[in-house]
Amino acid sequence: MRSIGVKLILAFLAVGLTGVGVIALLAGRATETEFRQFIFDQYQDAFVDQLADYYGTHMGWEGVEDMFPFPEWMPLQRKRLGPKPGGIVTLTDDGGAVLIAGHGYQVGEEIPGDKLETGAPIRVDEQVVGWVITHREEFRESAAEAAFLDRIRTTLTIGAIGAIAVSLLLGILLTRALTRPISELTTATRAVAEGNYEQRVPVRSRDELGELATSFNLMSIELARSINLRRQMTADIAHELRTPISVILGHVDAMDDGVMPASSDTFDIIREEASRLGRLVEDLGTLSLADAGELALVRRLVNIKTLLNKVSMAHLPLAHEKHISLQVEITPDLPDINVDRDRMAQVLDNLLSNAFRYTPKGGRITLCAERASDGVEIRVQDTGPGIDPEELPHVFDRFYRTDKSRHRISGGSGLGLSIAKSIVEMHDGQIWVESKLGEGSTFVIRLPTSSMDL
Ligand code: ADP
Repeated sequence: MRSIGVKLILAFLAVGLTGVGVIALLAGRATETEFRQFIFDQYQDAFVDQLADYYGTHMGWEGVEDMFPFPEWMPLQRKRLGPKPGGIVTLTDDGGAVLIAGHGYQVGEEIPGDKLETGAPIRVDEQVVGWVITHREEFRESAAEAAFLDRIRTTLTIGAIGAIAVSLLLGILLTRALTRPISELTTATRAVAEGNYEQRVPVRSRDELGELATSFNLMSIELARSINLRRQMTADIAHELRTPISVILGHVDAMDDGVMPASSDTFDIIREEASRLGRLVEDLGTLSLADAGELALVRRLVNIKTLLNKVSMAHLPLAHEKHISLQVEITPDLPDINVDRDRMAQVLDNLLSNAFRYTPKGGRITLCAERASDGVEIRVQDTGPGIDPEELPHVFDRFYRTDKSRHRISGGSGLGLSIAKSIVEMHDGQIWVESKLGEGSTFVIRLPTSSMDL
């Protein structure tokens, strides 16, 4: 963690140093060159002006060498030296014959045209009357000019150091901003690994790190939820198993002690509890297969009418017994559906069993199927007590019961709806409930167009 921070700071520093160094060097060089050229041009222009004046006044170059004592090198601490070979300025007439010899030239020598072009022409009335060649290598700046260049260099150096300091500071701040969420995530991940699942990290930005923090928070919420669910499920299973087992053991002990007769009633109670245990184990098996994605579906084309009639037939005796009217309503042009018939029958059976469990004597249960915009809907409607809006979101949860004691007596395992949900979702369908207290409940299964035979 700390080392990535150091690496980042060093990287910022390296980038800063390189950038600033290159710019300072180039700016320094360019300034110096340009400045020297400027000064040089100024001096040369001054010579040209003076010489042009001279020519204008004297109508020729006669005596010029006595009038212009050019310095040996410029401006030579203000000390004026007499003209001597090796000075910094060479003057020629318009034809290139040397009048005042500077460094490397002799008076009277003819300087070729291309060399002349490197100097500056002296014009009088638009006519070139001579040339000034200033020797660059002899040229040096004055103390004031050197001081100016020094000041420029110092300013550039200070600027460069300042820029590096700022880049270092920015690097440290940026590194902290980058590494802080990472170290928070590391701490939180470590805590999760140690079993502390309720971990949240602050989301400090909207960039990739912010997204990472958000994903981590979602993950830990989901992790905590599923761990809690597993704990809850284990507790629920233990709880569900305890009751039938203790009833069975209690009756067996009572018969063994002679407190209870070994009558068929006693055996019926034991058989019922044992079959409840069997159902529970069966349901848990189905759920765990569905969870593992191993609940194999044997899909084939199924006629909805046949399916619904078959399921309702199985409940007819119960309907008679409870004086409940059971109706099947199917719109005529329904296509076949491509589903696992037994599993779908199991779903409908669970819904119908619930409907019968909660619908009072004289009530009505309707099984209907119709086309929906994006598939087919099968509804199981009852005139039971309905479900409290607060309970509605939970009825598909495992072992969820709105009234625990009542339902254990009525025989539900609390897994019927969760199994129905798993099976419907495996068919890419949806299942939900619409219900109001006192107005009955309607469980709706919607199967997508993909599962229809069109
Ligand atoms: P159970 O085996 O207890 O019926 P389910 O998973 O099938 O478990 O149902 C969960 C809970 O949903 C039930 O305990 C009950 O409270 C509620 N419920 C299910 N179907 C109906 C219904 N038709 N009318 C009223 N409540 C219902």
